[in-house]
Amino acid sequence: MKTIAFIGLGNMGLPMTLNLLKAGHQVRAFDLSAVALDKAVEHGALACKNAIEACDNADVLITMLPAGKHVRELVLGKNGLLGHFQSNLLFMDCSTIDAQTAQDLHKACEEHGSLMLDAPVSGGVTAAQTGTLTFMCGGSEPAFLMGKKILNDMGQNIFHAGSSGSGQVAKMCNNMLLAIHMIGTSEALKLGEKNGLDAKVLSEIMLASSGKNWSLEKYNPYPGVMATSPASKAYEPGFMVDLMTKDLNLAMENAQNIGAQTPLGTLAHQLYLQKQRQGDGQRDFSSIIELLS
Ligand code: NAD
Repeated sequence: MKTIAFIGLGNMGLPMTLNLLKAGHQVRAFDLSAVALDKAVEHGALACKNAIEACDNADVLITMLPAGKHVRELVLGKNGLLGHFQSNLLFMDCSTIDAQTAQDLHKACEEHGSLMLDAPVSGGVTAAQTGTLTFMCGGSEPAFLMGKKILNDMGQNIFHAGSSGSGQVAKMCNNMLLAIHMIGTSEALKLGEKNGLDAKVLSEIMLASSGKNWSLEKYNPYPGVMATSPASKAYEPGFMVDLMTKDLNLAMENAQNIGAQTPLGTLAHQLYLQKQRQGDGQRDFSSIIELLS
């Protein structure tokens, strides 16, 4: 069992922490939000006053933060965590961030003598709760082999995508596809509704047909079709519009830099920016269906 410093106890980080505790690890937790930290402590995590204290004697550091700038500042900023890593510490950043920041973090860790994995996740809050996340890892083979043992306590599918930053590239591609099929699923359900079909019946039909996809199966955007999906809870996140917009920004910047063609990704990006401008950034990303009303 390991001593794990866990920073970022939000929608994803908290349930991931609870699964590490269930697996018997000691978790030294920190979040800027006292409310988030209290929830982790209720379940047996050790409350730390700051991220540096959380790293004290930790074998492993896991971060689950909103974006690249948060991770960069935390680890490489003034009095950043890197200077406080004990020797042989394994750092796993599970946040979704840009591949360049991930590569800069890898380089700094290597120079410091620490191992690192970029290990973003897919599956959302439900998979975080049930310990069935998919992890997409970038980094060296030794870092992957060491990290996999811990990631197994929070996830079901642990992939080694390649060298540093590769996990983030895989995640960026996946989330662009997610945005596209969430909008496509919403369009199909609204078209059916306009034609008088019951959304639940149409969902069942498409689930047994060639339109089947993750948004339809696990995260139905139409209210009332799936009791557990954010759509049935007034689009409480879940995965916020702000975060999906951030992920699409990453994909669009990358596509532009390398000259890749992403026409549907570009359109999905525009629609999510529109949703964000309407003041819906903090709502679940499946609320995109409202743009089609
Ligand atoms: P969230 O906003 O719910 O949680 C982020 C947490 O980080 C907050 O509690 C915040 O207080 C804390 N935080 C921010 N800066 C901090 C700092 N410097 N020190 C300590 N704590 C700090 O976000 P989330 O939904 O949990 O997402 C986290 C990451 O996971 C994001 O990169 C997101 O893109 C990715 N992700 C989210 C989902 C999802 O379904 N929510 C799915 C896959 C990946």
